[in-house]
Amino acid sequence: MSALLGIDYGATHTKMLLVDGAHGDGPVVARESVRTGKLEELAESVRTFTAGRAVARFGITVAGTLDERSGVVGRSANMPWLDGVSPARTLTDLVGIPGVAVQDGVATAAAEAALGAGRGVEDVFVIALGTGIAGAHIVAGEVRAGAHGGAGEVGHIVIGGTHRCSCGQIGCLETLIGGAQLGRRWAELSPATGDPAATARDVVLAAESGNQGAEDALAQASDALARALLQISALLDPGVIVIGGGVARSPRWTVVPAFEKARRDATFHRLPDMRLAELGVWAGAHGAVLSAAEAPHQGSPSGLAAATCGSPRPAGG
Ligand SMILES: [Zn+2]
Repeated sequence: MSALLGIDYGATHTKMLLVDGAHGDGPVVARESVRTGKLEELAESVRTFTAGRAVARFGITVAGTLDERSGVVGRSANMPWLDGVSPARTLTDLVGIPGVAVQDGVATAAAEAALGAGRGVEDVFVIALGTGIAGAHIVAGEVRAGAHGGAGEVGHIVIGGTHRCSCGQIGCLETLIGGAQLGRRWAELSPATGDPAATARDVVLAAESGNQGAEDALAQASDALARALLQISALLDPGVIVIGGGVARSPRWTVVPAFEKARRDATFHRLPDMRLAELGVWAGAHGAVLSAAEAPHQGSPSGLAAATCGSPRPAGG
């Protein structure tokens, strides 16, 4: 049986996943994480990883903006060698396997919806709490990108506060719970002990050791997230909300109190099940596999926001 290859091409590490079968939900037959290199080095890693195995297609994530039709990367802040390049086409030329590119946030959300905490639910909203905040609404396996591709920007719904967001607005959710903002909030609330350069993990460790400012920063962050959960429910009424990402890795301080507060504060809302993500750091690679599975059908409107490159083999060919 041939397999599908998922490549989560991250700025520091690249995760490769080989899944049996044609649909992307089969058993994982191999997985490996390597240090990220340019596409020629990636091709070498792919050859070593897949040696002796029949691989039908690959999917590769892009950490940056991606033109879905052409598969060309607009801009990748941390991987500038991808700017203006079609990584799937280049890799196809180097390793001789057809493949598709998919935006990394889309891949992660689609994987959580189909294979992780959202599996079995028709209508899933996925939130990734990282340095920034990404959201995706997935209905029947399809990411609802909106009429202009701009849907899901949950990090930029305005919650409150006085801080200007990177997007230009004041008071976005991201200014209160974005991983890059928690240290700043801690330093504001506790000037003597807070560190504006602290990571989300640092703030959690400080809170666990009893630092009041760190606790307050996390409490405000989880309150903000609770308000966002109510807004998402009011607007979309999803079947389940799934939350993952680095800031969610200490759920006791962030996500769990947000779930509880949302339940307490709900009035007319039909609050859905709210769950922690399940696939962890392999979600992007699983999403890349799913995009590889979907790719032959990209002529139709269904499927992931992926871009086909190479020469897809006809069914059964
Ligand atoms: Zn914003």
